[in-house]
Amino acid sequence: MAKKKMDPYFSNEKILDIIRDYSNDTIYFKDVHSRFIWNNRSHAAQFGISDPREMVGKSDADFFPKDFAARSRKEELEIMDTGVPLISNIERLEKADGSVVWYSASKYPLLNDKGEVIGTWGISRNITALKIVEEELSRTNEKLRRLSQVDDLTGLFNRRYFYEMIEKTASQYDRRNTDDPKNTFCLISLDIDFFKKINDDYGHNKGDDVLRLVAGILTSQCRKSDMVFRIGGDEFMMLLPDTPLKGAKIKAERVRSALSSAPIVLDEKSAPVRLTASMGISCYKDCKDVADLIHAADERLYTSKTLGRDRIT
Ligand code: GH3
Ligand code: MG
Repeated sequence: MAKKKMDPYFSNEKILDIIRDYSNDTIYFKDVHSRFIWNNRSHAAQFGISDPREMVGKSDADFFPKDFAARSRKEELEIMDTGVPLISNIERLEKADGSVVWYSASKYPLLNDKGEVIGTWGISRNITALKIVEEELSRTNEKLRRLSQVDDLTGLFNRRYFYEMIEKTASQYDRRNTDDPKNTFCLISLDIDFFKKINDDYGHNKGDDVLRLVAGILTSQCRKSDMVFRIGGDEFMMLLPDTPLKGAKIKAERVRSALSSAPIVLDEKSAPVRLTASMGISCYKDCKDVADLIHAADERLYTSKTLGRDRIT
């Protein structure tokens, strides 16, 4: 059977011309000194050069910032030394005008017919658009992560995050080995007294205002390392790292007096309302685990309620 004649359009030479003239990816060949031997049009075009032959004999240092060119040279020396290509390496290029371009670059050793290394060659794809989407996605993820930790109404941390943080905090203290009495943390469980009555007398919206106000008061009594959570309804938790029981009692007392010393006006026709809350404190040093710690704080809060409210146990 007669061999079908190869379409000249697909000769090696023609294919190389197509790659040189039409590839959007930048392609180059370099000698052992990292000087260009061959570049495609796309590679030249990024420097405003229309004829890629103008680049022959030059190197990255003639076109890219110094640190980028130095890094590139180092990579090429390593590839020539080891024979191992560098595949899909993500490169960040900050241009003189401050704009940033991202590339996914692969570089290979360039071999002659005898298999000797005579340089390198590489192909790079501009992935800036992809990177922008990726960064946007990571910002959105971060935002979602923060939202999943926060209570909508008050802006405090929420119940889910409370359980995450208390476990995390406990495990940090479990790992420490010291007799320092300060080396523990405390929990204050707090519930507003007769909150239902506020909703009943002034409406749910005013009730929401009160929850936000209480959140603000609790936060104002915190150090940077303390954390305040709204567990649900009118129930809050304060997590106090590096605080022994004595310190937690002082803090709870401050919260109690801050709450009750500022009567709030919920409606112009009625007298200001004096807000009180009941609290229970537990200390990690006195508990066998996290569940015990939470249970102890809640039990003591209940005791405060049954003893007449507006108090700390
Ligand atoms: P106690 O002193 O025993 O705590 O009495 P209380 O009236 O505060 O009773 P309790 O803590 O059991 O009631 C909490 C109330 O909080 C019940 C519910 O109607 C109300 N509540 C729960 N979530 C919200 C909310 O998001 N906004 C408002 N305004 N009220 C809420
Ligand atoms: Mg209550």
